[in-house]
Amino acid sequence: MNVLFFSAKAYDQQFFTEANRKFGFDLKFLEIHLNRNTAVLAKGYSVVCVFVNDTVDADVQQVLAEQGVQLIALRCAGFNNVDLKAAGALGIKVVRVPAYSPYSVAEHTLALILTLNRKTHRAYNRVKEGNFALNGLMGFDLHGKTAGLIGLGKIGLVTAKILKGFGCRVLGYDIVKPAESDGIGVEFCELDALYAQSDIISLHCPLTPATYHIIDSGSIQKMKRGVMLINTSRGALIDAAAVIEGLKQGQVSCLGLDVYEEEADLFFEDLSDKVIQDDIFMRLLSFNNVLITGHQAFFTNNALQGIAEVTLQNMADFATKAVLVNEVKSA
Ligand code: NAD
Repeated sequence: MNVLFFSAKAYDQQFFTEANRKFGFDLKFLEIHLNRNTAVLAKGYSVVCVFVNDTVDADVQQVLAEQGVQLIALRCAGFNNVDLKAAGALGIKVVRVPAYSPYSVAEHTLALILTLNRKTHRAYNRVKEGNFALNGLMGFDLHGKTAGLIGLGKIGLVTAKILKGFGCRVLGYDIVKPAESDGIGVEFCELDALYAQSDIISLHCPLTPATYHIIDSGSIQKMKRGVMLINTSRGALIDAAAVIEGLKQGQVSCLGLDVYEEEADLFFEDLSDKVIQDDIFMRLLSFNNVLITGHQAFFTNNALQGIAEVTLQNMADFATKAVLVNEVKSA
């Protein structure tokens, strides 16, 4: 089976080549994104393997189908960039990696919380310059604080366990109450109660029409003054302009982002010699209480190994007509 990878970086090639020893597929890696202009490159490939910022809308899938593509293999958990209805109509199967390492993302969430709270990003620079003054670096004890998690799936639950370890009270909101939450000590509650009581709010739900801009000016006004907001899920869960206003008013005291609504034009590339044109993004960078990482929460060697193995197994299941356990379909 031949597979064309889009948006492939050297680390993708390394982990997939290693995992492919067991499968023996013919893998071709392209650095460019999948979009309307590049979809024709899939001519003669039965499988395309895509990532979070590839465009997999109905037009792109039409071109892919014309090239002979039968399977779209996402090497990530989220599938908001794929038009599943179009895939169903074209007879293209879509598979994903629902779980690889929830620890990678949960632990990165804590890295953002701890850095923003204890301001180690600022302390690092100060100490390097011989400035040992502590003014402006004061944090708070996580112990005894209330953390609210929106989305209690695999990553949300691991994050909850870690926060409980710090001695936090953990509130959780989800459209479905998971069986495990009581055992972990998560207090399941309504969204407004979570907004009103949480010192830290972290997003762990997928991007869907219902969660698009779930954090907007209305929800921010319902939060505790001085709330810390963290998003390691998908950028469009947050209305960035509304959060900037919240930061200016002091309603939001800190913001930690691993994802950004318009990240497709920025993340995963070295743009250090370019002028970044996104004014909202640049405004966010201007705050010293905003910490942004470029969609790296998943980026551990354990996760990359898991992603490669599950993605290739998904392809093998497709090739042998086995049940596609990780298929995603339109509802
Ligand atoms: P999951 O499917 O295990 O959990 C998602 C949870 O969100 C589910 O419990 C679901 O019921 C809940 N949910 C759905 N709609 C909701 C709504 N309207 N309100 C509240 N909760 C809702 O997924 P996961 O593995 O925990 O991943 C969560 C998200 O993290 C993914 O959707 C993905 O977008 C993101 N993610 C980011 C990275 C990264 O590198 N930054 C890596 C992996 C996943």
